[in-house]
Amino acid sequence: MPPTPDPAGLGETLAALPLLVEDVTCEVGSVDVPTFGGARPTSVVTLRGRRTAGRGENVAWTETAQDHFAAHARVAPRGGWCLGDWSAAMREVIGEPYERAALEAAALDLALRQSRTSLFDLARVKPSPVRYVDETPGTATVLTLGAHMCKWPIGDPAADNFTFCGRRAGDEGPYCADHARIAYQPPQTKKKSSVNELARSLRRYI
Ligand SMILES: [Zn+2]
Repeated sequence: MPPTPDPAGLGETLAALPLLVEDVTCEVGSVDVPTFGGARPTSVVTLRGRRTAGRGENVAWTETAQDHFAAHARVAPRGGWCLGDWSAAMREVIGEPYERAALEAAALDLALRQSRTSLFDLARVKPSPVRYVDETPGTATVLTLGAHMCKWPIGDPAADNFTFCGRRAGDEGPYCADHARIAYQPPQTKKKSSVNELARSLRRYI
């Protein structure tokens, strides 16, 4: 994505967005984070107004912290505001920066929805679709890789679970259609596609 054209101007535009908050709810749940050792508590605050809703997530590691947030979220300001004034009023009653960030995210989400606009529209940036290739483990290993199988490496060659894609390779190269598209980007599209560039540069290490 290109850089935001005018961050200061965008900030002013956002601060001036009208916002109507009629109701605030907070739900404490959990997300599974295997590397952390199990479930991590999380809470999602929902601001509602004008029959629409905006949400923000409070990231904290303990249930105590989430309960603290849920109690605070309930005192978030209600009524009709512009987003900038609402944020200032909210800062007066909620001290924790992470809690404020979650509430601000919810308020911004709600204000954008109530004005039927989006950050992309306001920044005059076009969202560009990104094409991801499925990188689940392939079907071939060093021992089973055959002549007409895609030789795109998947994973760390030093690890036991290293595989090759293994799907049927095209007639003209070592890769299947999906991987050939990444491997042989024509020069003019290569510059535009930073995600594919990144994928290619990572491949150089393999
Ligand atoms: Zn492939």
